[in-house]
Amino acid sequence: MKGNIFFENELKTYDIVGKFTSIENMHKLKSEILGLKNTGKLNDWIYENYLQFDFDVSKGYKSIMISAMKLPVVKVTVEKNNSIKEIMIPSAYYNGGKVDVYNSNLDEMFNKYQVKYKPVHLPCKLLVSRTGLGSYGKNNIAYIDEFGSYFRMRAFLTDIEMDEDNWYEVTQTDKCSNCNICAKNCPNGIINDESYVIDAGKCITYPNEIEGVFPEWIKPEWHNALIGCMKCQLDCPNNLEFKNDIKVISHLSKENTLDIFKTSHYEELKDDTKLKVKEIEFSNAYDVFKRNFEAVYHNL
Ligand code: SF4
Ligand code: SF4
Repeated sequence: MKGNIFFENELKTYDIVGKFTSIENMHKLKSEILGLKNTGKLNDWIYENYLQFDFDVSKGYKSIMISAMKLPVVKVTVEKNNSIKEIMIPSAYYNGGKVDVYNSNLDEMFNKYQVKYKPVHLPCKLLVSRTGLGSYGKNNIAYIDEFGSYFRMRAFLTDIEMDEDNWYEVTQTDKCSNCNICAKNCPNGIINDESYVIDAGKCITYPNEIEGVFPEWIKPEWHNALIGCMKCQLDCPNNLEFKNDIKVISHLSKENTLDIFKTSHYEELKDDTKLKVKEIEFSNAYDVFKRNFEAVYHNL
Protein backbone atom coordinates (compact mmCIF):
# COMPACT_ATOMS: atom_id res chain seq x y z
CA MET A 1 0.00 0.00 0.00
CA LYS A 2 1.08 3.60 -0.61
CA GLY A 3 2.68 5.46 2.32
CA ASN A 4 1.74 8.56 4.29
CA ILE A 5 3.15 11.10 1.81
CA PHE A 6 0.75 9.89 -0.88
CA PHE A 7 -2.20 10.13 1.49
CA GLU A 8 -1.20 13.57 2.77
CA ASN A 9 -1.41 14.74 -0.86
CA GLU A 10 -4.59 12.80 -1.56
CA LEU A 11 -6.34 14.51 1.39
CA LYS A 12 -5.82 17.87 -0.32
CA THR A 13 -7.98 16.75 -3.25
CA TYR A 14 -10.87 16.67 -0.73
CA ASP A 15 -9.99 20.14 0.68
CA ILE A 16 -8.72 18.43 3.81
CA VAL A 17 -5.22 18.80 5.24
CA GLY A 18 -3.58 16.10 7.29
CA LYS A 19 -0.39 14.55 8.59
CA PHE A 20 0.53 11.12 9.85
CA THR A 21 2.76 10.03 12.67
CA SER A 22 3.94 6.56 13.56
CA ILE A 23 1.78 4.53 15.96
CA GLU A 24 4.88 4.21 18.15
CA ASN A 25 4.40 7.86 19.10
CA MET A 26 1.14 7.07 20.86
CA HIS A 27 2.97 6.54 24.15
CA LYS A 28 4.63 9.95 23.79
CA LEU A 29 1.23 11.58 23.34
CA LYS A 30 -0.04 9.75 26.38
CA SER A 31 2.92 10.69 28.58
CA GLU A 32 2.71 14.30 27.43
CA ILE A 33 -0.94 14.56 28.52
CA LEU A 34 -0.28 12.68 31.77
CA GLY A 35 2.73 14.95 32.39
CA LEU A 36 0.52 18.03 32.07
CA LYS A 37 -2.04 16.41 34.36
CA ASN A 38 0.53 15.39 36.98
CA THR A 39 2.10 18.84 37.09
CA GLY A 40 -1.29 20.43 37.74
CA LYS A 41 -1.51 22.15 34.34
CA LEU A 42 -4.83 20.54 33.43
CA ASN A 43 -8.03 21.39 35.22
CA ASP A 44 -9.37 18.26 36.98
CA TRP A 45 -12.97 18.65 35.79
CA ILE A 46 -11.90 19.27 32.18
CA TYR A 47 -9.51 16.34 32.32
CA GLU A 48 -12.24 14.00 33.55
CA ASN A 49 -14.89 15.23 31.11
CA TYR A 50 -13.00 16.11 27.92
CA LEU A 51 -9.55 14.59 28.03
CA GLN A 52 -10.15 10.86 28.45
CA PHE A 53 -8.34 9.81 25.29
CA ASP A 54 -8.10 6.51 23.36
CA PHE A 55 -4.40 5.99 24.04
CA ASP A 56 -4.64 2.23 24.46
CA VAL A 57 -6.44 1.06 21.31
CA SER A 58 -3.61 1.11 18.79
CA LYS A 59 -3.07 -2.65 18.37
CA GLY A 60 -3.21 -3.63 14.69
CA TYR A 61 -2.55 -0.11 13.36
CA LYS A 62 0.61 1.50 12.00
CA SER A 63 -0.02 5.22 12.07
CA ILE A 64 -2.08 8.04 13.54
CA MET A 65 -3.60 10.52 11.11
CA ILE A 66 -4.63 14.00 12.19
CA SER A 67 -6.81 15.81 9.67
CA ALA A 68 -8.54 19.17 9.49
CA MET A 69 -11.18 20.78 7.32
CA LYS A 70 -11.95 24.49 7.12
CA LEU A 71 -15.08 25.53 8.97
CA PRO A 72 -15.58 29.27 9.13
CA VAL A 73 -16.87 31.27 12.05
CA VAL A 74 -20.46 32.36 11.36
CA LYS A 75 -22.69 35.05 12.79
CA VAL A 76 -26.34 35.70 13.52
CA THR A 77 -27.84 39.16 13.16
CA VAL A 78 -30.18 40.43 15.85
CA GLU A 79 -32.47 43.45 16.05
CA LYS A 80 -31.86 45.56 19.16
CA ASN A 81 -32.87 49.19 19.81
CA ASN A 82 -33.79 49.65 16.14
CA SER A 83 -30.39 48.62 14.87
CA ILE A 84 -28.89 45.38 13.63
CA LYS A 85 -26.26 43.75 15.83
CA GLU A 86 -24.16 40.64 15.26
CA ILE A 87 -23.43 37.64 17.45
CA MET A 88 -20.69 35.23 16.46
CA ILE A 89 -20.63 31.44 16.62
CA PRO A 90 -17.08 30.00 16.63
CA SER A 91 -16.31 27.35 14.01
CA ALA A 92 -16.30 24.56 16.60
CA TYR A 93 -20.08 24.86 17.07
CA TYR A 94 -21.68 25.29 13.65
CA ASN A 95 -21.14 23.11 10.62
CA GLY A 96 -23.95 23.72 8.11
CA GLY A 97 -23.69 20.12 6.87
CA LYS A 98 -19.95 20.41 6.19
CA VAL A 99 -18.97 17.87 8.81
CA ASP A 100 -21.01 15.19 7.01
CA VAL A 101 -19.10 16.01 3.83
CA TYR A 102 -15.81 15.88 5.77
CA ASN A 103 -16.68 12.48 7.20
CA SER A 104 -17.89 10.98 3.94
CA ASN A 105 -14.84 12.26 2.04
CA LEU A 106 -12.53 10.60 4.53
CA ASP A 107 -14.53 7.36 4.34
CA GLU A 108 -14.37 7.53 0.54
CA MET A 109 -10.61 8.05 0.49
CA PHE A 110 -9.87 5.28 2.95
CA ASN A 111 -12.22 2.85 1.21
CA LYS A 112 -10.88 3.69 -2.25
CA TYR A 113 -7.40 2.55 -1.17
CA GLN A 114 -8.63 -0.23 1.14
CA VAL A 115 -7.11 1.37 4.20
CA LYS A 116 -7.91 -0.11 7.58
CA TYR A 117 -8.93 2.86 9.74
CA LYS A 118 -10.63 3.77 12.96
CA PRO A 119 -11.70 7.18 14.29
CA VAL A 120 -10.16 7.88 17.70
CA HIS A 121 -10.45 10.46 20.43
CA LEU A 122 -6.93 11.87 20.79
CA PRO A 123 -5.50 15.29 21.75
CA CYS A 124 -5.97 16.77 18.27
CA LYS A 125 -4.35 20.15 18.91
CA LEU A 126 -1.26 18.47 20.29
CA LEU A 127 -1.19 16.15 17.27
CA VAL A 128 -1.45 19.13 14.91
CA SER A 129 1.61 20.62 16.55
CA ARG A 130 3.61 17.40 16.97
CA THR A 131 3.08 16.28 13.36
CA GLY A 132 3.97 19.72 11.98
CA LEU A 133 0.49 20.24 10.52
CA GLY A 134 0.32 23.50 12.46
CA SER A 135 1.33 25.26 15.65
CA TYR A 136 -0.14 26.50 18.88
CA GLY A 137 -1.03 30.12 19.49
CA LYS A 138 -0.33 31.66 22.89
CA ASN A 139 -4.04 31.13 23.48
CA ASN A 140 -3.69 27.30 23.42
CA ILE A 141 -5.55 27.17 20.11
CA ALA A 142 -4.16 25.28 17.14
CA TYR A 143 -3.39 27.17 13.94
CA ILE A 144 -2.94 25.76 10.44
CA ASP A 145 -1.55 27.99 7.67
CA GLU A 146 -4.41 27.24 5.28
CA PHE A 147 -7.25 27.89 7.77
CA GLY A 148 -5.99 30.02 10.66
CA SER A 149 -7.80 28.64 13.71
CA TYR A 150 -11.11 28.13 11.91
CA PHE A 151 -11.34 24.41 11.27
CA ARG A 152 -12.62 21.07 12.58
CA MET A 153 -10.20 18.22 13.36
CA ARG A 154 -10.50 14.44 13.33
CA ALA A 155 -7.95 11.81 14.30
CA PHE A 156 -7.74 8.24 13.00
CA LEU A 157 -5.67 5.13 13.48
CA THR A 158 -4.69 3.63 10.12
CA ASP A 159 -2.62 0.81 8.68
CA ILE A 160 -0.83 3.26 6.36
CA GLU A 161 2.95 2.85 6.55
CA MET A 162 5.14 5.83 7.33
CA ASP A 163 7.53 6.87 4.52
CA GLU A 164 9.03 9.30 7.00
CA ASP A 165 7.87 9.95 10.52
CA ASN A 166 6.41 13.27 11.58
CA TRP A 167 7.20 14.15 15.17
CA TYR A 168 8.42 17.63 16.00
CA GLU A 169 8.89 19.99 18.91
CA VAL A 170 5.73 21.81 19.94
CA THR A 171 5.93 25.29 18.43
CA GLN A 172 4.11 28.58 18.60
CA THR A 173 3.02 30.34 15.41
CA ASP A 174 5.67 32.63 13.94
CA LYS A 175 3.41 35.63 14.45
CA CYS A 176 3.21 34.99 18.20
CA SER A 177 6.79 36.17 18.70
CA ASN A 178 5.83 39.83 18.15
CA CYS A 179 2.26 39.75 19.31
CA ASN A 180 0.25 39.84 22.49
CA ILE A 181 -3.20 40.58 21.12
CA CYS A 182 -4.92 37.45 22.47
CA ALA A 183 -3.47 38.02 25.95
CA LYS A 184 -4.73 41.60 25.95
CA ASN A 185 -8.18 40.59 24.69
CA CYS A 186 -8.80 37.64 27.01
CA PRO A 187 -11.40 38.85 29.49
CA ASN A 188 -10.05 36.67 32.28
CA GLY A 189 -6.35 37.34 31.66
CA ILE A 190 -5.35 33.68 31.40
CA ILE A 191 -3.06 33.90 28.35
CA ASN A 192 0.62 34.54 28.97
CA ASP A 193 4.03 34.24 27.34
CA GLU A 194 5.23 31.37 29.48
CA SER A 195 3.32 28.41 28.09
CA TYR A 196 0.95 27.40 25.32
CA VAL A 197 -1.13 25.72 28.04
CA ILE A 198 -3.73 27.99 29.63
CA ASP A 199 -5.77 27.42 32.76
CA ALA A 200 -8.80 26.06 30.90
CA GLY A 201 -10.76 26.00 34.15
CA LYS A 202 -10.81 29.80 33.95
CA CYS A 203 -11.68 30.00 30.24
CA ILE A 204 -15.29 31.02 29.66
CA THR A 205 -15.68 28.50 26.84
CA TYR A 206 -16.38 25.44 28.97
CA PRO A 207 -19.13 26.82 31.25
CA ASN A 208 -20.64 28.26 28.08
CA GLU A 209 -20.94 24.85 26.45
CA ILE A 210 -22.72 22.99 29.22
CA GLU A 211 -26.12 23.46 30.83
CA GLY A 212 -26.54 25.21 34.16
CA VAL A 213 -26.01 28.55 35.81
CA PHE A 214 -22.78 30.35 34.86
CA PRO A 215 -20.17 30.28 37.62
CA GLU A 216 -19.85 33.51 39.60
CA TRP A 217 -16.31 34.25 38.35
CA ILE A 218 -17.67 34.96 34.84
CA LYS A 219 -18.53 38.65 34.66
CA PRO A 220 -21.69 39.34 32.62
CA GLU A 221 -19.84 41.71 30.29
CA TRP A 222 -17.45 38.94 29.21
CA HIS A 223 -20.02 37.07 27.08
CA ASN A 224 -19.24 37.76 23.44
CA ALA A 225 -20.42 34.78 21.38
CA LEU A 226 -23.51 32.61 21.19
CA ILE A 227 -21.39 29.81 22.57
CA GLY A 228 -17.71 29.62 23.42
CA CYS A 229 -15.64 32.78 23.18
CA MET A 230 -14.08 34.61 20.23
CA LYS A 231 -12.01 37.15 22.13
CA CYS A 232 -8.62 35.53 21.59
CA GLN A 233 -9.19 34.46 17.98
CA LEU A 234 -10.98 37.26 16.18
CA ASP A 235 -8.13 39.78 16.05
CA CYS A 236 -5.34 37.23 15.91
CA PRO A 237 -3.05 38.11 12.96
CA ASN A 238 -3.15 34.45 11.92
CA ASN A 239 -6.90 34.81 11.29
CA LEU A 240 -7.01 38.23 9.65
CA GLU A 241 -7.16 36.88 6.09
CA PHE A 242 -10.25 34.81 7.02
CA LYS A 243 -12.22 37.72 8.50
CA ASN A 244 -14.26 38.22 5.33
CA ASP A 245 -15.28 34.55 5.39
CA ILE A 246 -17.53 35.19 8.41
CA LYS A 247 -21.04 34.80 6.96
CA VAL A 248 -24.47 35.59 8.39
CA ILE A 249 -26.46 32.36 8.77
CA SER A 250 -29.66 33.65 10.34
CA HIS A 251 -31.49 36.75 11.55
CA LEU A 252 -33.41 37.06 14.81
CA SER A 253 -36.09 39.75 14.64
CA LYS A 254 -37.43 41.67 17.64
CA GLU A 255 -40.32 39.16 17.76
CA ASN A 256 -37.94 36.17 17.73
CA THR A 257 -35.92 37.71 20.54
CA LEU A 258 -38.99 38.34 22.72
CA ASP A 259 -40.17 34.81 22.01
CA ILE A 260 -36.81 33.38 23.15
CA PHE A 261 -36.77 35.55 26.29
CA LYS A 262 -40.19 34.33 27.44
CA THR A 263 -40.04 30.68 26.31
CA SER A 264 -38.30 28.00 28.37
CA HIS A 265 -38.73 25.02 26.04
CA TYR A 266 -37.85 24.74 22.37
CA GLU A 267 -41.15 23.03 21.50
CA GLU A 268 -43.11 26.01 22.89
CA LEU A 269 -41.46 28.59 20.61
CA LYS A 270 -43.42 30.14 17.76
CA ASP A 271 -42.87 28.30 14.47
CA ASP A 272 -40.72 31.04 12.96
CA THR A 273 -38.44 31.24 16.02
CA LYS A 274 -38.23 27.46 16.16
CA LEU A 275 -37.01 27.44 12.58
CA LYS A 276 -34.37 30.08 13.31
CA VAL A 277 -33.06 28.22 16.36
CA LYS A 278 -32.89 25.06 14.26
CA GLU A 279 -31.08 26.94 11.49
CA ILE A 280 -28.47 28.04 14.06
CA GLU A 281 -28.15 24.34 15.08
CA PHE A 282 -29.33 24.78 18.66
CA SER A 283 -32.69 22.98 18.56
CA ASN A 284 -31.16 20.13 20.60
CA ALA A 285 -29.53 22.45 23.11
CA TYR A 286 -32.18 25.12 23.65
CA ASP A 287 -31.37 25.56 27.37
CA VAL A 288 -27.77 26.45 26.54
CA PHE A 289 -28.87 28.61 23.59
CA LYS A 290 -31.42 30.60 25.62
CA ARG A 291 -29.06 31.20 28.54
CA ASN A 292 -26.16 32.23 26.28
CA PHE A 293 -28.34 34.33 23.97
CA GLU A 294 -29.76 36.31 26.89
CA ALA A 295 -26.25 36.83 28.30
CA VAL A 296 -24.70 38.04 25.06
CA TYR A 297 -27.75 40.07 23.97
CA HIS A 298 -27.27 42.39 26.93
CA ASN A 299 -23.72 43.13 25.75
CA LEU A 300 -24.72 44.08 22.19
S1 SF4 B 1 -3.12 36.85 18.86
FE1 SF4 B 1 -0.91 37.03 18.54
S2 SF4 B 1 0.02 36.00 20.31
FE2 SF4 B 1 -2.12 35.37 20.23
S3 SF4 B 1 -2.13 33.46 19.05
FE3 SF4 B 1 -2.47 35.11 17.61
S4 SF4 B 1 -0.43 35.66 16.84
FE4 SF4 B 1 -0.14 34.47 18.70
S1 SF4 C 1 -11.54 31.60 24.75
FE1 SF4 C 1 -11.94 33.57 25.78
S2 SF4 C 1 -11.69 33.18 27.98
FE2 SF4 C 1 -10.74 31.46 26.85
S3 SF4 C 1 -8.61 32.01 26.63
FE3 SF4 C 1 -9.60 32.76 24.78
S4 SF4 C 1 -10.21 34.85 25.27
FE4 SF4 C 1 -9.69 33.87 27.20
